[in-house]
Amino acid sequence: MSDFEARLRAVSLRVTRPRLAVLAALREHPHVDTETVIALVRAELPTVSHQAVYDVLKALTETGLVRRIQPAGALARYETRVGDNHHHVVCRSCGAIADVDCAVGHAPCLTASGDHGFVIDEAEVVYWGTCPGCAAEPIQR
Ligand SMILES: [Zn+2]
Ligand SMILES: [Zn+2]
Repeated sequence: MSDFEARLRAVSLRVTRPRLAVLAALREHPHVDTETVIALVRAELPTVSHQAVYDVLKALTETGLVRRIQPAGALARYETRVGDNHHHVVCRSCGAIADVDCAVGHAPCLTASGDHGFVIDEAEVVYWGTCPGCAAEPIQR
């Protein structure tokens, strides 16, 4: 049994080829948007409909197997790296996204200085900047 089959079973989702294809696509290409997931899955399974991929992404996100991130002003992106509350750095110029780990091996950002009585389970931190590729380009005007 593959790792992804085990993960699907662990959340009581049936193991289907489209679900495995979406998980595999996101492992190979983290932080891609919905249209890219569809293109990647259809390269493997040409008969899978757009709607089927939307449904798979919804089921995988709801069960926590896939994390959905949506930087302000950007399309929703998906990844299979879940459960560690890692953060993201986003290029303002080209939209490239990379993972940023919490600095000290746990998630200190979950300990808010004032939680107003809320039970906090996630901190969404997005660092914005310029990726190395864009920083190296001469500015186009
Ligand atoms: Zn860039
Ligand atoms: Zn990530």
